[in-house]
Amino acid sequence: MPRVAKGHVEQLPSGSWRARVYAGVDPITQREIRLKATAKTEQQAHIELGRLLKQASEGRTPESGATMAKLLDEYAAIAPWDVSTRQTNEGFIRRTIKPALGHLQVRKVRGPILDKLYAELKRCGDLSCTGRPFTEHRNIPALVINPRDPRPAWQQVTDTLTEAIRSGFLASGDELPSITELVALQGIGTSVMRHALEALAADGLILVRRGQTAIVAGNPSSTPQGARRRPGPAHDCRSAGCRPHVCHPMKASTIRGIHSILSGAFAAAQRWEWTDRNPAESAKPPTTIRQPIPATSPDDVAKVIAEARAHSPALGLYLWLVVVTGVRRGELCGLQIRDIDLDRGLVHVAFNYVVRGGQRVRKDTKTHQDRWLAIDPDTCALIASYLDEIRAELAAVGVELSDDAYLFSNDPAHSRPWNPDWATHKVAEAAAAAGVKLDIKGGRHYTASQLLAGGFDLRNTAARLGHSGGGATTLRHYADPVPEVDRRAAAYLAKLTARSEGQTG
Ligand SMILES: [Zn+2]
Ligand SMILES: [Zn+2]
Repeated sequence: MPRVAKGHVEQLPSGSWRARVYAGVDPITQREIRLKATAKTEQQAHIELGRLLKQASEGRTPESGATMAKLLDEYAAIAPWDVSTRQTNEGFIRRTIKPALGHLQVRKVRGPILDKLYAELKRCGDLSCTGRPFTEHRNIPALVINPRDPRPAWQQVTDTLTEAIRSGFLASGDELPSITELVALQGIGTSVMRHALEALAADGLILVRRGQTAIVAGNPSSTPQGARRRPGPAHDCRSAGCRPHVCHPMKASTIRGIHSILSGAFAAAQRWEWTDRNPAESAKPPTTIRQPIPATSPDDVAKVIAEARAHSPALGLYLWLVVVTGVRRGELCGLQIRDIDLDRGLVHVAFNYVVRGGQRVRKDTKTHQDRWLAIDPDTCALIASYLDEIRAELAAVGVELSDDAYLFSNDPAHSRPWNPDWATHKVAEAAAAAGVKLDIKGGRHYTASQLLAGGFDLRNTAARLGHSGGGATTLRHYADPVPEVDRRAAAYLAKLTARSEGQTG
């Protein structure tokens, strides 16, 4: 039974004005439909009120019929993701969430719909796959070179591919086979093929990606599930290189990533009153059963450190710091001279140093919590003698070690930090030479397990490792004293590791 919409205008504490309208009960959600709009002046608020009353009398409520596609767009625009998370999440939204759920109305999505999606993804990440065998067609047109055509061969190939892209036969985001593969499939010379792809790239029709095959430029559309495009009648599977589909189950951690995007989006939809429930709350993404990794013994860790030290004092110190501080590899690479306070026995972990796509970036620590860690007197002495050596070398050429120099660097003035991948590689070499299975993550695992085994509580161990929610905030400020227990943890780890090192010589 429709009710007459009522409304009023009110002034907010901030001085601006708001129009409110009550438009009866929503037949689906059984909740009151409330519309509101804010305005700067009372007069504007009355205009808004008129607009809302009209809207209510027409039976439309804003966004009540909004689709998942719209929700995801609006949510992605305000989601508090950092650059790399945003890239990943927008990829999930475009490739998986929108094709699967984009056409549904937000308020009609229920937990079982999500559970079904997760189950399908767990079986195969390709949404158009039903589990029955099928051919993955590639829409590569037959590239025929006509010797009587006045256009050069590369131009003919370019024109055929251009036409395929312009007509939508080859769609944005479609992968092209590699040049080698194209040459083999279509019997065209390598240089002709390369020239043609260069011309297409120059026209902005394809994107040539380093180390990967080229893709058709533009934003891939998210077509609804099952809408796999059928190749045209002239399609030749052999020359296009079509292959039978092989199912690739999506990893549980990836599905959990998708679930967390959906949880956030539905929470936003609830705040915006687009829906009154969060179906992600009743859905359950797959869990991974982690095999407990046996921690490396102190003896073995010490063997690797000895091996690393024999290779270079810097590498030895790096690995030592990994195990006594539990700091992440990129965080350790990002340590600058100013982050080390030997007088007070403190290390400031402020940045994570990452190299992505050839670009070196100093970013916030993984958990966005810089932290101060205690280091014991032995570790302080190791760092001090390492720094003395660097300073002596620099002094010989009349250079001073600056405060923003990096602790670990292959550059004489220490102005560029180690690439974390390089550090991983070097640690792997040392571990292999020592005949021990250990990597940097394993070093962190050692730290955690030894501290827990030594009776240090989880909260402090988490804080030391920079895990979020583990009480690390207490260490945030320089002025804050490092808890006594972290001092004891530092001394304990150093002693434990050194003792074993003494035994292995
Ligand atoms: Zn085919
Ligand atoms: Zn499949």
